[in-house]
Parts: sequence; C-alpha cells; structure tokens
Amino acid sequence: MSDIPRFPLYDLHSHTQASDGLLTPADLVQRAADMNVGVLAITDHDTVAGVAAAQAAAHDLPLRVLAGVEASTLWENHEIHIVGLNVACQHPALTAFLASQHQLRHARAGMIAERLARASIPDALAGAQRLAQGGVITRGHFARYLVEIGKADNLAQVFKHYLARGKTGYVPPQWCTIEQAIDAIHDSGGVAVLAHPGRYGLSAKWLKRLIAWFAACGGDAIEVAQCQQPPNERTTLAGYARDNQLAASQGSDFHQPCPWIELGRKLWLPGGVEPIWERFPALAPAIADADR
Ligand code: AMP
Ligand code: MN
Ligand code: MN
Ligand code: MN
Repeated sequence: MSDIPRFPLYDLHSHTQASDGLLTPADLVQRAADMNVGVLAITDHDTVAGVAAAQAAAHDLPLRVLAGVEASTLWENHEIHIVGLNVACQHPALTAFLASQHQLRHARAGMIAERLARASIPDALAGAQRLAQGGVITRGHFARYLVEIGKADNLAQVFKHYLARGKTGYVPPQWCTIEQAIDAIHDSGGVAVLAHPGRYGLSAKWLKRLIAWFAACGGDAIEVAQCQQPPNERTTLAGYARDNQLAASQGSDFHQPCPWIELGRKLWLPGGVEPIWERFPALAPAIADADR
C-alpha cells in the first residue's frame, strides 16, 4: 500500500473515441498518467463502451480508472449533463437506460441531418457516423464533419452558426429527466454529479434552482472545479454545494489535446467543501486496490 499516493490527483470527467473524444481509451489513460493524474473517470456521452479498454490500459500504470458516464437530460428546456461515477457497466438498469438514450441520439442524429440537408448540406449523417467510428454519435461529430467540408473554420464557429439552439441544424432535444439519470446511476451503484454547472448559460437564480432540484432528486455532488472557468466561479459553486449539502467534484472534461484544456490541469477544490472522494471512499484509489 505504500506506493499509493497520499494525495492523488483526481480528474473525474473525460471523453474517449467511444463518444466525441479524439483519443483512444488507451491513449487517454497514458496521457492522464503522464499528467500525474491518480484517479481518472472515463465519462463518455451516454456510453460506457470505452471503460474496459481504459481499465485494461491502466493495469500497469500508477493510475486508477473509474467507470463513468455523462448522461444528457432535459430540465426546464435546458440540456443538463449528469455524470455518473463508479457505475457497474453491466448493470441491467444502466444498460436499459443507455439503450434508451442511444435511441434518442439515433433519432436526433437523423433529424439533424435532415435539417442540414434542407439547408443544402447533404450527407451529414454519413459524415458524422464515419467520424464517430461506431461510437455514440454527438453534435461534436456533426461539427467536425462541417469543419471538414469547409462550412466553418473551427468547432466553436460550427456550433454558433449551425448547431446551437435556434440554428439550422438544431433539433430540440428529447432527453430523459434529471431524476431518471440519477436513478439509473444510483441503481447501478454509481455516484451522481451535476456536470459543469457554469456552462448552461443560466442566471444565478436559475442555476440555484437547478442545483436545488438536482439535490432534491437525490443527486450527490456538483462539479466545482474545471480547468477553464471564469474567475470566482469555483467559489460561487462551492457555496452552492455547501448550501445544498452536496459534495464537490472536479474534472477537465478533456476531449482532445489542445492548448487550453488538459487532463488534471488546475483541478483543486476550494476550502469548505466536501470532496466527493471523501464522501464516497469507493472513488479513492485505496479501496480499488483492496478490491483487486
Ligand atoms: P450532444 O451531447 O450530442 O448534444 O453534443 C454535445 C457536445 O458537443 C459537447 O459535449 C461538446 O463536446 C460539444 N460542444 C457543444 N458546444 C460546443 C461548442 N460551442 N464548441 C465546441 N464543441 C461543443
Ligand atoms: Mn462532448
Ligand atoms: Mn457536458
Ligand atoms: Mn463532458
């Protein structure tokens, strides 16, 4: 047990090629180890397909890989993401939940492609599917395809002009409720975390409402720390976590190598919050090693 770091670096939000990340699970895990991450959660959009390969790749590295997922939900007409940590990937409740999410994603992808076709952008479904390489299809894949065919210079521009709410390729989502996502995560033994609360474009009043609702539905923690955040956001979110007796999580939401987001970077929690790994010791490395 002596080689277990006393203060492992936690990065509890990341993506692989199983959804819209650019790295394979094995490459993501190696990169996390290079960045001194001690506990990495793989949290692909509505799938756990990358987890097994990531855990296998971590076998000879000083790093624990947690099985996770990032579920898309709909709340008050906003798309809200709920991260599940340490889920049992084969649990029937999770499998059924993810199958339903896949159907919704499949239907939405077809509708996005139809809208783009009406705007004289044909073949977007085939293009996005090719880029998804058999993984879960996301707007990120449509965005990459549109960059590929020269409709915009970068992903942010594609979202702004084509895929954001109200734009040509936007389809009003039909995701499950926050409660359904939390229940599926809990039923499969996981911990439910409200992802990137600062990124939904909500006013302070609505953000407080969302966090209170998430807590009322049985949610466990909110992401307080990300590597790219406006000044003061961390302190504000820490206060909301405390007010609602929620634990605090942290994660990079890494999708691909880029200058401004990196695994493990700038991930620390302000004082006065309860770190998620202290409230749920099953997330800490020592438990994993005891379990092996
Ligand atoms: P989906 O879950 O299919 O709606 O896809 C959402 C994903 O698209 C997010 O997880 C991001 O990876 C990506 N995304 C959303 N907005 C943007 C943006 N403005 N720029 C780049 N990527 C984005
Ligand atoms: Mn994504
Ligand atoms: Mn997200
Ligand atoms: Mn994410």
